Amino acid sequence: MLKVSRRSGGEPEIFHSVQGEGVSLGVPSVFLRLATCNLACSWCDTKYTWDWQNFNYQTEVVELGPEIVQQKIQAYDCSHVVITGGEPMLQQEELQPLVESLAAEGYTFEVETNGTIPPTPGMLRHIGQWNVSPKLRTSGNQLLETQNPLTLQTFAALPDAYFKFVISVESDVDEVCTLRDQYDLAPQRILLMPEGRTPDALARKSAWLPELCVQHGFRFTTRLHIILWGDERGR
Ligand code: SF4
Repeated sequence: MLKVSRRSGGEPEIFHSVQGEGVSLGVPSVFLRLATCNLACSWCDTKYTWDWQNFNYQTEVVELGPEIVQQKIQAYDCSHVVITGGEPMLQQEELQPLVESLAAEGYTFEVETNGTIPPTPGMLRHIGQWNVSPKLRTSGNQLLETQNPLTLQTFAALPDAYFKFVISVESDVDEVCTLRDQYDLAPQRILLMPEGRTPDALARKSAWLPELCVQHGFRFTTRLHIILWGDERGR
């Protein structure tokens, strides 16, 4: 069974929109948001997927078999799926039959991951793009939890993996440079994204972040869904 987050009305968080972040920004996609996470970022905007001190698991999560999830995905006229969370790689064994079945029908996939859990060979076969988002010190996690060197080396060796860093303060970029050097990442594969859950917060950080991207040759990405729809679930 897959643990799928719920939208505000209680239905599974499987929806059709445009990708709001990263190298596929603007691409029409079906989103599948899976619940649970192995980290606890202070600024996380999907705490309802994992923070069971403040959210109720029964209210926020629905457990569905892969066939039902596939039906809900195929209800939309769109063959590109973004698998997000929470941390979807916690459920990669359960995801495997779904991904295989949809791939056989011509679907393509990208996965959003925090980069702490290595992908299985089955997932590697079918996922066309990995959006890896290692968490920095300002996420509030312990660094030992956020950076798994073997997993990051695995993603670094994949040509279809991009590294998207959430930037809260300018000094976060120094940490990104250290990771760039440590994992020998080409700057074109690195994206910097302002942290923010409101258009105002994004605008404030977007005043200085693009310049740092230019300086280092990194890509800049905004959070289009926040600009368009704020912090609304399922958009
Ligand atoms: S890794 Fe992602 S889902 Fe997990 S706490 Fe951090 S931002 Fe939230």
